[in-house]
Amino acid sequence: MTETTAPVPVSDAFLAEALGDLGSIVGPTNVLTDGDAAPALIDTRTKFHGQSFAVVRPANTDEVAAVVAWCAANDVCIVTQGGNTGLSGGGQFDEPRPSIVLLLSRMNTIEVVDPEGWTMTVQAGVTIEAMQEAAAAANRKFAPDWGARGSATIGGGIATDAGGNNVVRYGNMRDQLLGLEAVLPDGQVWNGLRALRKDSSGYDMKHLFTGSEGTLGVITRAVVKLFPATPHEQSALAALRHLDDLMDVFALANDVAPDSITAFELMAETGVARVCEVFDMGHPMDQRAEFYVLAKFANTQPVTDQLTEFLSIGAERGFITDAIVASSAEQEQRLWKIREEIPPMSLYQHQAEGLKMDTAVPIAKMGEYHDAVRAIANELVPDAVAYGFGHVGDGNLHMMVVPLADEDVAPFIEVRDELIRRIDEATFALGGTLSAEHGVGRELTERVRAQKSDVEWNMMRSIKSAFDPDNRLNPGALLPPPL
Ligand SMILES: Cc1cc2nc3c(=O)[nH]c(=O)nc-3n(C[C@H](O)[C@H](O)[C@H](O)COP(=O)(O)OP(=O)(O)OC[C@H]3O[C@@H](n4cnc5c(N)ncnc54)[C@H](O)[C@@H]3O)c2cc1C
Repeated sequence: MTETTAPVPVSDAFLAEALGDLGSIVGPTNVLTDGDAAPALIDTRTKFHGQSFAVVRPANTDEVAAVVAWCAANDVCIVTQGGNTGLSGGGQFDEPRPSIVLLLSRMNTIEVVDPEGWTMTVQAGVTIEAMQEAAAAANRKFAPDWGARGSATIGGGIATDAGGNNVVRYGNMRDQLLGLEAVLPDGQVWNGLRALRKDSSGYDMKHLFTGSEGTLGVITRAVVKLFPATPHEQSALAALRHLDDLMDVFALANDVAPDSITAFELMAETGVARVCEVFDMGHPMDQRAEFYVLAKFANTQPVTDQLTEFLSIGAERGFITDAIVASSAEQEQRLWKIREEIPPMSLYQHQAEGLKMDTAVPIAKMGEYHDAVRAIANELVPDAVAYGFGHVGDGNLHMMVVPLADEDVAPFIEVRDELIRRIDEATFALGGTLSAEHGVGRELTERVRAQKSDVEWNMMRSIKSAFDPDNRLNPGALLPPPL
């Protein structure tokens, strides 16, 4: 099922004038319409459809500022996009107001790599992968990493406060940020590109833009931290005796290798087996288990001994029933391919009708959360597949509940709201969040309401209206509509 769309409310005369004006700022070939605009008007899960009359592709901050000022003068809304890999529908505008997509893919210049200062300065449309590669070329590490690294941009990462695999060691996107430049809704440019490690001179504006999902301004450039390169990286896949042992296994990894553990990912056998089937790969484990942990150790020194010690103590204590250590780059890639393909997008025909949860709970309650979701799914949609994976070190578990291919999806859709309501209730009862790293977007605006008090939502609304009194920047995303 896809979300419904609203008609584009612009006249032919307005459209002609708008395309001409915007073309004179960014060049006519960088104003896309119709079929050329189509990829930006649908999200990666094919769940959300946007209704914007054009996609505009600026090359630099000045062009962004000029486009934003034009939009302000003509009461046109803006939804900013980077790689369009967002998983919450934040990039697809569907309000009955004229809007453009501001696509930052041309703003892909790495401006400065400063190995001595341990920083990198980039335009907002640079991909995570390009930043990783540029850091590596200077014998440094840009830490954020996740499956969509080749398309997701630093601007999108900051706007959603993205997480990913390495948060357990390096923190999330907010923790990488030293300085920021953004264009405000009236077209003013705020240059906060300071590369300072300490600065207590008032409100920290860059953190206001982090996680703001394009509702306060357009992020145009950023200064981020670099870390020492970790030339020695090795992963192991370990079968768990029981999900209840998860925290003991995580504690063990931290005891054995506190300076090396960079990723600690949970995968359910249901998902692993499905990836192996769909991508025609042999199953990596001799002995199957209900759950596996994929752990990556990385350091300036070899990590094999630490990894082996972790696995053998885990086996001695009975937590780990089987394990494989990647002994070549190819094996390493195969293990991580399973993790990266485990989201249902390529695995299940009815993935768009299914549920994707981006929950975080206190780490010690992850097993309880998993079991609660499975129990609710078994009761309401016993024929659907329900499985979890995620970044255990951060308490972030993505539970998926998806109708199977040969299933009639109508009964699933009939109880879907009830399913969501019950799972959200369980999340809140465990002190969790519905949005750990994917943002609120348009998918969660109603559902997150119950997560915070009116006092907190009202503080956010005050900030939004101070920045964007006309509500033209990504309206309909992030904030619950007022009651
Ligand atoms: C296979 C796959 C795996 C993923 N794994 C993870 C994961 O492990 N962890 C994780 O956190 N996310 C993950 N994601 C989600 C996604 O990659 C992130 O949310 C990412 O940060 C989005 O970046 P983007 O450039 O694609 O942003 P977009 O999808 O283009 O936009 C996302 C939101 O940010 C806003 N935005 C984008 N650029 C700017 C800007 N320059 N200024 C202001 N607002 C802006 C948009 O308006 C929108 O609200 C995954 C996605 C896929 C497809």
